Amino acid sequence: MQPSNYHKAFAPADKKDSLLLFSTRYCSKILIRKETWKAAQENALSAENEAILKGLGMLVNDGDEEKRSVSCVFEELNKNSTSIEIIVVLNLDCNFACKYCYEGDIKGRIYMSEGTAATLIDFIRKRLDQDKKALHLDFYGGEPLLSLGLIRDISHQLNQFTKERNASYTFGLVTNGSLFKRRTAEELVSLGLKNAKITLDGPEHIHNKNRPFKSGAPSFENIIRNIKETCDLVRTAVGGNYEHDNYHEFPLLLDYLIGEGLTPDKIAQVKFDPVMKRSDRFLSPVYFNDGCMSTDEPWVMEASVFLRDEILKRGFRTPGIRPSFCSVENRNSFVVNHNGVLYKCPGFIGMEGFEAGDLINGISDYSLPYRTGIWNNSECMECEYLPLCFGGCRFIKFVRDGKIDSPDCQRKYFDTCLETLVKQDIKYGIKAER
Ligand code: SF4
Ligand code: SF4
Repeated sequence: MQPSNYHKAFAPADKKDSLLLFSTRYCSKILIRKETWKAAQENALSAENEAILKGLGMLVNDGDEEKRSVSCVFEELNKNSTSIEIIVVLNLDCNFACKYCYEGDIKGRIYMSEGTAATLIDFIRKRLDQDKKALHLDFYGGEPLLSLGLIRDISHQLNQFTKERNASYTFGLVTNGSLFKRRTAEELVSLGLKNAKITLDGPEHIHNKNRPFKSGAPSFENIIRNIKETCDLVRTAVGGNYEHDNYHEFPLLLDYLIGEGLTPDKIAQVKFDPVMKRSDRFLSPVYFNDGCMSTDEPWVMEASVFLRDEILKRGFRTPGIRPSFCSVENRNSFVVNHNGVLYKCPGFIGMEGFEAGDLINGISDYSLPYRTGIWNNSECMECEYLPLCFGGCRFIKFVRDGKIDSPDCQRKYFDTCLETLVKQDIKYGIKAER
């Protein structure tokens, strides 16, 4: 037996004779006496203690075998996956005029046509073979509820098709929340709606400044009203985009939600993300995957740890620390733009050179533009953070450097934040997700 390559040992300030071990592969943790860990490293543990540490992933039979197994993790996940996940950009239109918007200048009255929606259904029919048991779409925009008719049409057809195939169909919405009335939610739930991600950019005064209606009218109250009307019907996640000069005020939003009865039992998840600024435009992360886009800018590291604590201390759920599975590496995950062009990550929608095929001609080889497997190099393979990182975020790397020629290294972020994040998970009883 030997220590796993994928663990960290932290020294708790209040327990001088102990270590807090954390497995970056399984996100398990244990407080252990220093002498016990020393015995483990010297292969001198009792069989019982050895079994416990092996079960937690702190000890392995063979370090080289462990590295081989981690290097194949995406191959295994892709091979065994029984689901297909597709983000569908229904339009580039919006009834809001947000200060930052990932669509920048490309926004306008541009909608997915019925013809493109029909090719989307065909594309899914071809890919949902007998091995696939679940299909999940996330409708995205602009504002997806401006394309309500298309959501109905697509969902009717996919419900019928998946039923014939003995598979399930579900969908989610990434919406600004302003059009999400109870009657709409009830209808969509009957078609397979399971989750809605709604953005509130902080407390009312900040949100209304950053996310007004196109008319300039404030939107905060309207969204809160809609969340209250619908949160018992769908799994509602609240997100928000903070900036350097306003993140300290975001806890006021959490208190407001609780005061309005939107307590942790009604809101499935809260997660705040930084607004990334590029020289020529703002980049709002909106909502990619839950684990996307950590960054090592000092103020962002401070803000993300601070806000996570504020969320957890009020009893809301927020993503735990978990192994990274960027959709770039997931062969069963795509983004379909309104015009039928495919991408691998919503951050790259519309960016030349990052197309991954189209609905008519199928999927093209996207390994080069997205640099799949960029983490498969000697430095990353030796790195204890590999399972949490896998080369970081291609999108952040591209935003920062204008090219993806090396991993978006997360070492500084994890060196600075991981111990605090692990301690937060212990303090608030967050269980490891495998
Ligand atoms: S490239 Fe980045 S933003 Fe895109 S899916 Fe991967 S981690 Fe998320
Ligand atoms: S990119 Fe950096 S943090 Fe990530 S696995 Fe490689 S060396 Fe480690």
